[in-house]
Amino acid sequence: MTRTLYAGGQVFDGTGAAPACADVVVEDGRFVQIGSGLDGDDRIDCGGKTLLPGLIDCHVHVMFSGIDVLRMIQTPFSYPFYEAIHNLRATLDQGITTVRDAGGADLGVQQAISNGLIAGPRMQISLGMLSQTGGHGDDWMPCGASIPLLVEHPGRPSTVVDGPDEMRRKVRELIRNGADVIKVATSGGVLSPRSDPRRGHFRDEEIAVLVEEATAAGRFVMAHAQATDGIKVAIRNGVRSIEHGIYLDDEAIEMMLAAGTWLVPTLAAPRAVLDLAGIGAGLPQHMIDKARMVVDVHTESVRRAIAAGVAVAMGTDSGVGAHGDNLRELALMVGCGMTPAEALHATSLSAARLLGLGDELGSIEVGKRADLVVVTDTVTDTGTETDSDTADRDALDVDTLSARIHSVYADGRLVAEPG
Ligand SMILES: [Zn+2]
Repeated sequence: MTRTLYAGGQVFDGTGAAPACADVVVEDGRFVQIGSGLDGDDRIDCGGKTLLPGLIDCHVHVMFSGIDVLRMIQTPFSYPFYEAIHNLRATLDQGITTVRDAGGADLGVQQAISNGLIAGPRMQISLGMLSQTGGHGDDWMPCGASIPLLVEHPGRPSTVVDGPDEMRRKVRELIRNGADVIKVATSGGVLSPRSDPRRGHFRDEEIAVLVEEATAAGRFVMAHAQATDGIKVAIRNGVRSIEHGIYLDDEAIEMMLAAGTWLVPTLAAPRAVLDLAGIGAGLPQHMIDKARMVVDVHTESVRRAIAAGVAVAMGTDSGVGAHGDNLRELALMVGCGMTPAEALHATSLSAARLLGLGDELGSIEVGKRADLVVVTDTVTDTGTETDSDTADRDALDVDTLSARIHSVYADGRLVAEPG
């Protein structure tokens, strides 16, 4: 078996330890040795570079390529599958080797990646988002037509349900069709035509059945939850992660801490909508108005959640905006009070734990799958400042990280070389 040596890099292992110079040996797709003076059959010189764990984005939509309603309704049904090939490549180029698709990707997309037919990060899929009538996943338009962003098909069924019985049957159907994780909208949202992000959706009995069925099948539940009521109904009933979390009050934050509920902020999402509006994308006015309404209160909620110690995992909602800009989210998280190291942790080991993959992914540790990102400009040696804090700050600078991705490995194989 070939031993590949990544020699002489600065290793940010993702465990919370300070970056340190080390050799890393990979064999058969896994980390087998980490230390100094190691040897290998193949040698990759990492001098002057930093090694990060493969990064993880917990909220993407690989089948969306930037929301533009006028463009999307004129796009042929199968076209987004081909666009996804490009989106997946752009995601890998950011050093992201694992994603959770929050709606859109189906079993065929996932299998095409896992079989090596197309390049992409390994993926957990949700297929679609369970929604009540009039909720965030209901595409009914005031003209009377339903115009979904992606049309349902046999592998991606309609997900509008009302009442515990419909909820139970639909969760089972999603799992049958390949869902690794169940997504529900417990509040309105920005993109949907008739919902209000400040209103909670579904009642306790419906969410309790959803979580019961998902748990029985060994699946976690993620909740698009923006309204305070919708956030609380999700936490109360055992949902694993709150996506967006726009209107968090003190009680919601306390409930998250008590239940161990994760927050996936997606700070980039409302900004992406406003950016799209700025470049003339075909967006209904209600989307733009709602994005404006939530952007500041969202930032403030995330800031308070971080300060209170809520567990945070990185997610971007990429697909709402263009793919390949994922690492912008880290700078936004730093803007809400995280250190760069904490933002990277949220994008590696914390994210892996949220996805139930903490034993296999998320850190550079012996025994784990060898997902690695090699980044340039590790240490700027000025000759005057020698303390390691200076070196760490340069290596982990999240503002420039996207431009410093040199090469990306998944399961020990080179999967991207943007640098
Ligand atoms: Zn989303």
